[in-house]
Amino acid sequence: MESLLTLEESQRQILDRVEPLEAEEILVSASAGRVTAEDVRARVDLPPFPSSAMDGFAVRSADTPGTLPVVFRIAAGRPAERALAPGESMGIATGGVVPEGADAVVPIEHVVDLDNKVEIARSAEPGASVRPRGGDVAAGDVVVPAGTRITATQVGALAAAGVDYVRCARAPRVAIVSTGTELVPPGVPLGPGQVYEANGVMLAAALAAAGAQTSEPVPVADDAAAHRSALERGLEADVLVTSGGVSVGPHDLVRAIERELGVEEVFWRVAIKPGKPVAFGVRGRTLVFGLPGNPVSALVGCELFVKPALRALQGIVDPLPRFEPGRLAAPLRRNDARDELVRARTRLDEDGVVLEPLSGQESHMIAAAAAADALVHVPRGEGELAAGATVRWLRLGVAG
Ligand code: AMP
Ligand code: MG
Repeated sequence: MESLLTLEESQRQILDRVEPLEAEEILVSASAGRVTAEDVRARVDLPPFPSSAMDGFAVRSADTPGTLPVVFRIAAGRPAERALAPGESMGIATGGVVPEGADAVVPIEHVVDLDNKVEIARSAEPGASVRPRGGDVAAGDVVVPAGTRITATQVGALAAAGVDYVRCARAPRVAIVSTGTELVPPGVPLGPGQVYEANGVMLAAALAAAGAQTSEPVPVADDAAAHRSALERGLEADVLVTSGGVSVGPHDLVRAIERELGVEEVFWRVAIKPGKPVAFGVRGRTLVFGLPGNPVSALVGCELFVKPALRALQGIVDPLPRFEPGRLAAPLRRNDARDELVRARTRLDEDGVVLEPLSGQESHMIAAAAAADALVHVPRGEGELAAGATVRWLRLGVAG
């Protein structure tokens, strides 16, 4: 039996060739989806001052219970002009600055507000309903570590902590070239032997969501001159991704033309199904992926090879695909030579994720794959995985 490169080894060879991209300053408000190039630290304590957690009355806890004069009403953004003296209270809104001298806030629900005085029936604990300065994060502490793809939550956290710009890896520029004389764009009737172009638009969508700056996918016919000019241009990007033309047929020109153009091939063919004839090479700092043309093979190659490379280029700490454990709803035959990536649908039961393999597992069946939200990893080997067996699966359609 032919001995093919394993999935793990091929991924290692890719990551070995990645040199992380340089960093640039990004406005925090535009940073979602970008990857931090360094630890991002709080510029201020958060909260920046002792702040009230409730609408209520700022008091000295030692003065409660009791009836206290209301000497001031503090709104958010409008601190009191003086400290609270013993025996006094101040009305305070959520987010208001707890005045010096006060050590507790009694919620409005627990008092009788008589306008110029307030009746407090219960005693307040010191610190009650007061958010201490720096209780969320202290100035100088790390809010988001280096190598993190910034989420919306983190945009909020960075903004709250006073960060205006954040150093992020430059977005990788990705060129996408779809080879195949038979390909036509949607919106025109199909001629004899033609099919609609799917991979270019699919890869552009997937890779843009993974942080890439993609240009319009370029379709090329299966002739050497067309390949040469499209690939030459594509090699100017940080990453060139082609689809089709990497098998052994007479019209499969990608690898040969890339070689002419100075691409050093690192590997061709990996022990996976679908997607075996995938090629990977480099020219200078440009990473060059040749994905097979069958759309499901291209999808699998994108998930297993291209996205990890993009993550590594952007400095993500753990760039390999995030497989999670789940249980099979139905048995799956194993392939003795290749790891299989089976399209499945997830559902939850009381014990966690259950994976239902879809019918229509052939590599051209992109419409059948449209129902999948998971790729199940079926390791090469003998026999079958039984229903209920624990497997690793990768969620499809996640951004990074
Ligand atoms: P290839 O890898 O070039 O031999 O192509 C394998 C199969 O995938 C053929 O049936 C092609 O027509 C089909 N194919 C290749 N590229 C695309 C594409 N961009 N969109 C849809 N189908 C494609
Ligand atoms: Mg082709």
